[in-house]
Amino acid sequence: MKWIDLRSDTVTRPTPAMRKAMAEAEVGDDVYGEDPTVNRLESLAAEMVGTEAAVFAASGTQSNLMGLLAHCQRGDEYIVGQQAHTYRYEGGGAAVLGSIQPQPLDFEKDGSLDLDKVAAVIKPKDFHFARTRLLCLENTQSGKVLPLDYLERAVAFARDRGLGLHLDGARLFNAAVRLGVAPSKISCGFDTVSICLSKGLGAPVGSLLCGRRKLVDRARRWRKLLGGGMRQAGILAAAGIYALEHHVARLAEDHRNAARLAQGLAGIDGLAVDTGTVQTNMVFVSLDPQRDEALQSFLKERGVLVSGRGTYRLVTHLDVSQEDVDTAAQAFRDFFSSAGV
Ligand SMILES: *Cc1c(COP(=O)(O)O)cnc(C)c1O
Repeated sequence: MKWIDLRSDTVTRPTPAMRKAMAEAEVGDDVYGEDPTVNRLESLAAEMVGTEAAVFAASGTQSNLMGLLAHCQRGDEYIVGQQAHTYRYEGGGAAVLGSIQPQPLDFEKDGSLDLDKVAAVIKPKDFHFARTRLLCLENTQSGKVLPLDYLERAVAFARDRGLGLHLDGARLFNAAVRLGVAPSKISCGFDTVSICLSKGLGAPVGSLLCGRRKLVDRARRWRKLLGGGMRQAGILAAAGIYALEHHVARLAEDHRNAARLAQGLAGIDGLAVDTGTVQTNMVFVSLDPQRDEALQSFLKERGVLVSGRGTYRLVTHLDVSQEDVDTAAQAFRDFFSSAGV
């Protein structure tokens, strides 16, 4: 059975062409800096993201953590979204391994952090307080694209306040495709940027921390400490190069499919669709949580996988076609028309 898996864009499988690139990759020992394919991926990513350097990491969690550790020392603080992946979904790594204190703030509706609210939580320079060192933004944030003029203001703000600026750009390329700009247009003002190859770009594994050379060098040291120094990693990097060269422009297709899915779900009695926030590859819907179990098993019988409790994040990606989206929407409609009783 071919599943229509809308749980996440992390579920994509490498395509035959990607697997071929992996099989044919030239490799060396990357801890010695001798893997030509990893080196090529790092230069390509740095160029696309518009930074001086980049370092390949095993996951986005690792790459974000390497970034935080490169900026902050024990007793420093970073300001971050309450629902940000870095703060909420990465096991508290910055606190556990870096003794870095988070200062979370609620995201605004558009996925930004209000800079006045950020200013208000920056700690005074006084030994009573942690040292506020870093501002961390996320783009896309729950599928929402941060406006370019906001980013410009955030960069100027961070410079003015002497804060480092980190971007969790797990889905930076989705944002760039949505805006129709080069990714570097979004990321160039940041000191460090984490990007994921294993989301919509379709690589099986891998992320990169891109940024200023000094920070990337520090991050490379942390990567070793975190157990992320991989050897013939060119096999994985080849998938990443393939993804960056072939799977960026096609993200537009995922965005079209998400919009189509939102349309297909709109107007179903019992299901609220947040059509206003569908900007990239995510659609948020909600229903009475008591019907979660029934809905999920109904959909599963029709080959559609979703996850959530009361609210569902439906994600389109490389392995979800337009036809799949129509099938999924129909399955939702069938559930709500038949199981309404
Ligand atoms: C997926 C994701 C990451 C990294 O997750 P890994 O599973 O560790 O690769 C980081 N930030 C955001 C916003 C993500 O969606």
